[in-house]
Amino acid sequence: MTYQADVLVIGAGITGCAVARELSGYKVSVIVLDSAGDIAEGATKANSGIVHAGYDARPGSKKALYNIRGAGMYESLCASLHVPYRRNGALVIALNDTDRTAIESLKARGLENGVKNLDILDHDAVLAMEPNISPEVKCALFVPESAIISPYETAFALADHAAVNGVSFRFGQSVSSVERLPDGSFAARTDTDTYTCRVLVNCSGASGAYIHNQLSGQKLTMVHRRGQYYLLDREAVPAFSRTIFQCPSPMGKGVLVSPTVHGNLLLGPTAEDISDPLDTATTAEGLSDVLRKASLTWPKLSVRTNITNFSGVRAHLTTDDFVVGPCEDCPGLFEAVGIESPGLSSAPAIGLDLSGMIAGYLGLSLKESFLPCPVRPRPFNEMTDAEKAEAVLKDPAYGNIVCRCEVITEAEIRAAVHRPVGARSVDGVKRRTRAGMGRCQGGFCMPRVAEIISAETGIPLDRVTKNGGDSYILSGTVESFLKEETVHD
Ligand SMILES: Cc1cc2nc3c(=O)[nH]c(=O)nc-3n(C[C@H](O)[C@H](O)[C@H](O)COP(=O)(O)OP(=O)(O)OC[C@H]3O[C@@H](n4cnc5c(N)ncnc54)[C@H](O)[C@@H]3O)c2cc1C
Repeated sequence: MTYQADVLVIGAGITGCAVARELSGYKVSVIVLDSAGDIAEGATKANSGIVHAGYDARPGSKKALYNIRGAGMYESLCASLHVPYRRNGALVIALNDTDRTAIESLKARGLENGVKNLDILDHDAVLAMEPNISPEVKCALFVPESAIISPYETAFALADHAAVNGVSFRFGQSVSSVERLPDGSFAARTDTDTYTCRVLVNCSGASGAYIHNQLSGQKLTMVHRRGQYYLLDREAVPAFSRTIFQCPSPMGKGVLVSPTVHGNLLLGPTAEDISDPLDTATTAEGLSDVLRKASLTWPKLSVRTNITNFSGVRAHLTTDDFVVGPCEDCPGLFEAVGIESPGLSSAPAIGLDLSGMIAGYLGLSLKESFLPCPVRPRPFNEMTDAEKAEAVLKDPAYGNIVCRCEVITEAEIRAAVHRPVGARSVDGVKRRTRAGMGRCQGGFCMPRVAEIISAETGIPLDRVTKNGGDSYILSGTVESFLKEETVHD
């Protein structure tokens, strides 16, 4: 099939969703394509979730510019999207004299970038603030403006907001080739379909250089850099309330120990260059590296409460900066490439900037009415007993707890399936509702979640996937399995 839109966005990560949501305020048709089965399946689902204040990026770089602007937009953006945001502050700790010098340079760099309220605290002040930090700490850079968010929940909400304002999202659409047509428009091809558009927006994360290099003579080289994590259960949280960084290196911001907005504790990431951008495996070597480095920050660290491990892959350009804006030698191509850290922090500002540039290029005008982001009901596990009783009275599906660890109800899972960009897989439900995010990691609720997805969407139960593609949960019936066994006997 051939589809047509004014603007085609490749990539439904936080960047593509931020661009799409800004564009949805204009009179323009927009399609967003993603090779995965859902929003946020690339780097956006597997990162530290920190809204960096902006002390680390090189002054004058695009990373510094967008980090500072994006970080300044997040609090009100999250409020309007009804997603969590917590300005918990951060400490970058010095564990030796070399680190002490690095801390002073970071503070100077932060001030040059325009970060507010930076301070260097001595040993005693650091331990008074966070008593579980190693007593070896010499001093620390205190960054009160640092915040935490849920990266994928923010992307889901941006996508929902774009969708209610007319943007169309299509999944399982891996763009293999892009071409500029003689009339200046573009054709993007997937295995099954062709999409034509006047403006092409490259927000394809790990494929950013691959897409760019098909259309531009100014070639980009991308390195894929994996980061592995430990996620600890809520029990570990009182250990720290702020995000604790070690000093950054050329490979990244170093191993952190940080609370998440949902009260878990995150340890990681590593920084390893890999050849396959889709290789999100965790390794014994990588995870022990995380433990070794994290225990320098937190000597009493125990992973007894570890509930899962995961990894994400950074899209690092050898030029070591973001590419954001119109492509110089290909009019109509707009790009956000090399969006590694602080890409999450920068996404709202990149979305605003790119959409403004596209609006100027196409001569777009704003819509007369722009619908607000749909409000989601308060999670059942945050309701008072009286609110819970009222919710169950209105909808008895609130009375059916499907995920016991996180206390998520059938009503909430159904609602996740029926959101504007609704969940179609067990992981899609997990990230929208937290069903399966607890200590048992879905061991009890996964079959029930799959049944609800099937009932609500009409997808046959044996076609419901864990996370898109062919990740089917059921491989057939016991009856057919027994029949096959008999034939083989
Ligand atoms: C380990 C790690 C830790 C990080 N920590 C932080 C942090 O704390 N704070 C911060 O600010 N930033 C952080 N980042 C960076 C942040 O995660 C990224 O900058 C951000 O998620 C990039 O979003 P994106 O939408 O540009 O890319 P992605 O999220 O990767 O989205 C790109 C999308 O494009 C799709 N796609 C790819 N190729 C194709 C194709 N050919 N056709 C169709 N679709 C395609 C993918 O499926 C994907 O959904 C971290 C990154 C990593 C990996």
